[in-house]
Amino acid sequence: MYAQVIVDIAHSQVDRIFEYSCGEEVVAGSRVKVPFGSRFVDGFVIKVTDGCTLSPEKVKPVREVFAEQPALVPECLALMETISRRYRSPKAAALRLFLPSEMRLGRVREAFKRYAVFRGDIPLSSSAKKQAEALAYIRDRGEEEFTSFAEKFGRAAVNSLAQKGAIEVESRRIERSPFPSVEGDPKPIVPTPAQRAAIENIERSPKRVHLIHGVTGSGKTEIYLNLIADAISRGKTAIFLVPEISLTPQMLSKLRARFKGEAAILHSGLSAGERFDEWWRLRSGEAKIAVGARSAIFAPLENLGLIVIDEEHDSSYISESAPRYSTVDIAKMRAEYNDCKLILGSATPSVESYLKAKEGEYNLVTLPDRINKKPLPEIIIADMREEAKRGNDGAFSKALKDELEDTLSCGNQAIIFLNRRGYSQTVICRDCGYVAKCENCDVSLTYHSEDDCLKCHYCGAKYRMLTACPECGGRHIRYSGTGTQRVVADLKSLFPQARILRMDNDTVSGKDGHYKILKQFADKRADILVGTQMIAKGHDFPSVTLVGILDADMSLHFADYRSGERTFQLITQVAGRSGRADSKGKVVLQTYCPENYILRYATRYDYNAFFENEADIRKATLFPPFSLICRVMVTSEKDGAALESLRSVYGEILKLQAENPDEFIFLNRMHSPIKRIQGRYRYQALMRLKSHKLLPRIYDIAVENTSQDSLVYVEENPANLS
Ligand code: ADP
Ligand code: ZN
Repeated sequence: MYAQVIVDIAHSQVDRIFEYSCGEEVVAGSRVKVPFGSRFVDGFVIKVTDGCTLSPEKVKPVREVFAEQPALVPECLALMETISRRYRSPKAAALRLFLPSEMRLGRVREAFKRYAVFRGDIPLSSSAKKQAEALAYIRDRGEEEFTSFAEKFGRAAVNSLAQKGAIEVESRRIERSPFPSVEGDPKPIVPTPAQRAAIENIERSPKRVHLIHGVTGSGKTEIYLNLIADAISRGKTAIFLVPEISLTPQMLSKLRARFKGEAAILHSGLSAGERFDEWWRLRSGEAKIAVGARSAIFAPLENLGLIVIDEEHDSSYISESAPRYSTVDIAKMRAEYNDCKLILGSATPSVESYLKAKEGEYNLVTLPDRINKKPLPEIIIADMREEAKRGNDGAFSKALKDELEDTLSCGNQAIIFLNRRGYSQTVICRDCGYVAKCENCDVSLTYHSEDDCLKCHYCGAKYRMLTACPECGGRHIRYSGTGTQRVVADLKSLFPQARILRMDNDTVSGKDGHYKILKQFADKRADILVGTQMIAKGHDFPSVTLVGILDADMSLHFADYRSGERTFQLITQVAGRSGRADSKGKVVLQTYCPENYILRYATRYDYNAFFENEADIRKATLFPPFSLICRVMVTSEKDGAALESLRSVYGEILKLQAENPDEFIFLNRMHSPIKRIQGRYRYQALMRLKSHKLLPRIYDIAVENTSQDSLVYVEENPANLS
């Protein structure tokens, strides 16, 4: 027998199949150690055959089969090909996606605990008091965890009982279970007619991909859980992706209530041991539902019956390390392979997905109302330019202060949201709200302190830094806003009685950090929660009746063609945290540009108007989804080597352009906005293409130009152009 092996070295030069002789114990998917040159390396067996293409005397035997390491599920051997072709990644890198490092490197193992188990009475001398007590105790209970048993009665007494055969010490495998304190939510839920209709619509539709566009609080979770339960009852398995599982204890408790041990969590916030055990539960078939963030799409499940991607618009679904996959793409591959449905859900679908739904590629399911027709919270706009004119320099508008007072006096809770991403780099005039934009690209410029200038991340254009506003002549130009700490301090002086929690990167630590803060808030042990993007996603706090959005417009000015989309999504998501239960909710949105159309549509919850407008702009300016932004990154520790590679890459892209002039909307090469990261110089060829047609050729160029010295890789519609 022969094994076709991919060695576990993610390098294009060894990216092919090697053959070894092997015994019966080797199967497709096995993990093995094989001789490779003068050393031994780990590998994945992708096929076992009777014959071999090499002459027999040249074939070396497999040295070792890792029995304790799980074999890969057959599907990943098939997907490995598709993924490595699609993203031009070495086969070993594609396979690694399916096998987290805990499994691969053998550093984490099962955990065991010792138990003392009662076996039978024995005669004891009357002086052996401790032993007698211990024996009586264990006889009563049958068994006890060994360490605590030994602590109660002394190690000597316990050991002596073991020696005489009265007890036996057993080692048992234990499972390290994440978030053990989260209990199942016992509240049973009967789907509403709207939820029923959505479920039936999805079940009836012959389409592969379904987009649920449901306003916040429309009960999408219940729809997912019903569809998952249905898949399980058909003897299948399911994957349920959320952008941040650790942020949503409610989700976890709903899952535990419904599916108990059948749900396993895969998440980077877990300890290695927990991840190892949860992964094993899925691989062994004990657990049938994988819940987690992006990487859970690679869960080792066979016989998939459903894949759900909640908050499908979230940028965390795009991988920023090689292979730079899109989770939705991988989900489509798996859905295809298993012939099952893929559900995408969001209150604010990405422009790309919604366009596909409108064009009929996806089945569109719309839920326009909240559960029980509860109204969406009213959004009050506070114009911060007016506040400044009236002499209010603080972080809070009068409207927000008044509403906070009302909320606290009713014993309700409030969330204060700071839109901090991309904050310090945008340049805004405090007097009129003017924001510096590129003349060619209509995206906001980014301030670069190293050469004190403004740059466009889409075309590389440079502008002098402003000293006065070109619109109003004002000199209150600013880059940065208030931080969470400052906001908490202001709140404390305004509302000394209020209990305030803060959640941002500085206050969250440890793997349960988020969870602890959110639990405290959910248990009403605090009145106000202050936070950044972290608190925007998916929470369901019934007592929250007020949401304040400070600087709502900040994300409008990200140097990104999607900044309008992101802002609309963010406002809708954050506003959606308010008034979810019986009391009516309110939102105060503070801005310097109340007339902006994105804010106007967002305050009316008018997704369709937003979409039509946004799609029109993208179509007219030829930005995605009506084109493809493609960046070829060249990085090297040596500036000269990077430049040389860039020259070569760019030369080849120019040739491609000469052969296909119609495919290119824009092409240029430049320094990357951040010129050096972690000691590596960064250059890029940036292009906008009419379609995906030339993408494989561009990947080829990247692979061919990667060398010892410089790394060349491709990014498609990158979430971040720094
Ligand atoms: P979404 O994910 O669409 O924002 P959720 O699934 O979180 O909405 O549901 C919003 C709220 O409505 C939750 O508190 C949930 O428990 C409740 N809910 C959902 N479906 C029902 C139902 N059929 N009957 C009663 N309450 C429901
Ligand atoms: Zn530009």
